[in-house]
Amino acid sequence: MLQVDIRELARGPVDIAGELAGNYPLFAGLDFVLAGPVQVRGRLQAAGEGRFYWHGRLSAQVTEQCRRCLAPVAVNVAADIGALFTPDPEALEDPESYPLARDATLIDVAPAVREELILAVPRYVLCHEDCRGLCPRCGHDLNAAPCGCAPAADLRWRPLAALKDKLRF
Ligand SMILES: [Zn+2]
Ligand SMILES: [Zn+2]
Repeated sequence: MLQVDIRELARGPVDIAGELAGNYPLFAGLDFVLAGPVQVRGRLQAAGEGRFYWHGRLSAQVTEQCRRCLAPVAVNVAADIGALFTPDPEALEDPESYPLARDATLIDVAPAVREELILAVPRYVLCHEDCRGLCPRCGHDLNAAPCGCAPAADLRWRPLAALKDKLRF
């Protein structure tokens, strides 16, 4: 659990170290797959006026699909986190701020972990830099072997060729 009792924070900063399981309910519905738990650490401290500031770090391994060939790719993700937990609704316009009920007795850093994890996961990954991808005609994985389809015409230049034809007449 990555929750800290606010009474403990009144006595001084509290170090957090732990993990959130990949199947933690807060992680449901993400468009990448966690390959294991999310490791979390950092220091939470009172910041006055009922606010608390957490400076932490997350690390995790996620599984994504290669953008070209759709093979699963393991990606290591890490991010620094600066999060302000505040009961002031106006402060919540800041994306680094998280709501805190005025009568809260605990601070749960998991929502900040979720947000920063989403930002830290790369949107496009390749299984390796020169991945050949899938054949656009038959779907064969061209990393394994050529598929025998005739090479596709280079579509990028067709609009230019059409324009040249128009200009000629
Ligand atoms: Zn690939
Ligand atoms: Zn093919």
